[in-house]
Amino acid sequence: MNNFTAELSLRLDEIRRQGLYRELRRVDSPQSTRIVVNGRTLLNFSSNDYLGLADHPVLKAAAVKAVEKFGSGSGASRLICGSLAPHHELETALAAFKGAESALTFSSGYATAIGVICALAGKDDVLVLDKLVHASIVDAARLSGAKLRIFAHNDLNELEDILRWASQRAAPAHRPSAIILTESVFSMDGDLAPLTEIVALKEKYGAWLMVDEAHANGIFGPHRRGLADELSVSDQIEIQMGTLGKALGSSGGYICGPRVLIDYLINRARSFIFSTAPVPAAAAAARAAVEIVQSVEGKTRCEKLKSLTDQLKTGLAQTGWPAASVRGAIIPLIERGIFVPAIRYPTVARGTARLRVTLTAAHTPGDVSELLNALTTLPRPATRVAQPASPDA
Ligand code: PMP
Repeated sequence: MNNFTAELSLRLDEIRRQGLYRELRRVDSPQSTRIVVNGRTLLNFSSNDYLGLADHPVLKAAAVKAVEKFGSGSGASRLICGSLAPHHELETALAAFKGAESALTFSSGYATAIGVICALAGKDDVLVLDKLVHASIVDAARLSGAKLRIFAHNDLNELEDILRWASQRAAPAHRPSAIILTESVFSMDGDLAPLTEIVALKEKYGAWLMVDEAHANGIFGPHRRGLADELSVSDQIEIQMGTLGKALGSSGGYICGPRVLIDYLINRARSFIFSTAPVPAAAAAARAAVEIVQSVEGKTRCEKLKSLTDQLKTGLAQTGWPAASVRGAIIPLIERGIFVPAIRYPTVARGTARLRVTLTAAHTPGDVSELLNALTTLPRPATRVAQPASPDA
């Protein structure tokens, strides 16, 4: 073991030397606007629980009921030991919510990206990725063995150049010239993809489009179905992806689309086939969340989130904090009883470290004022690198 531990210690030393060492912080409370870390209660601006559903009594009751009826574990892969009712109920609810024919859920968003991209693309295909797509999509694209092309973030001209090139390659009948992979709301910058224009380009050049709505589902659009719905392009997106661990307050990921896509994934998505199904409690909680999102309560929570986001944006502008590149600033903020993580490489590119502030509908205007007060006491950033990551519904 000696060489083994010595080698890993050296690697960790190098990570420390670069100032990039990360540790887990134990939280002794539910994910909510207040979390308990090391016996201290901190005001939490770090979670993706945008609608404040992760600790919602209705989701908790649904999870408990599912445990009582279906047990704690799911036994095996859904293809092996049978597919539990809560998964089917969730998928029916998700498909109806998204206005899609069908849906399939996975154990995480990461597993969703790996499963769907590797099922759809192989060495003869071209995948075209926005430079800032989430690591799960990058990893999936690499694993697929397809040819990869990257376009600068939201750069339609560069995307068109790549699609033009791809469309000139000889692709077998029915196959797309390329598959475009993008997010609708970007996870670390909070900005939006120009989906209408991307859809027009993929139609023009015979490509397919996959959009990850992880940070838009439950928040954007008149029915809170996501940005694609807001822009009325859902029907033109071949593969709609989302996650269940953010606005939907549970955990997991999903794909929505035509029945044939879902049938294909059940047969070909390896992260679905070779992985134990999510626990029934997670599926039941997510299903309860899908219902809340569509209810009057969902609308009210979303409106509250929008108003908190406006308050934060206005306050940031007034205090000279449009958005910032700050290293290690988590320490002064924690000293003020506020939890905002500093996001560093490798989560974002080198030189673009930032504070990532996320709001939830469970915050109060007073919480946002407290955050703004804490920020006023920090040194102002020299450069502007990003928009606030909070969603602008
Ligand atoms: N897609 C995006 C855009 C994400 O931000 C994330 C994770 N935050 C994922 C996928 C992965 O989802 P999960 O956390 O459920 O694995």
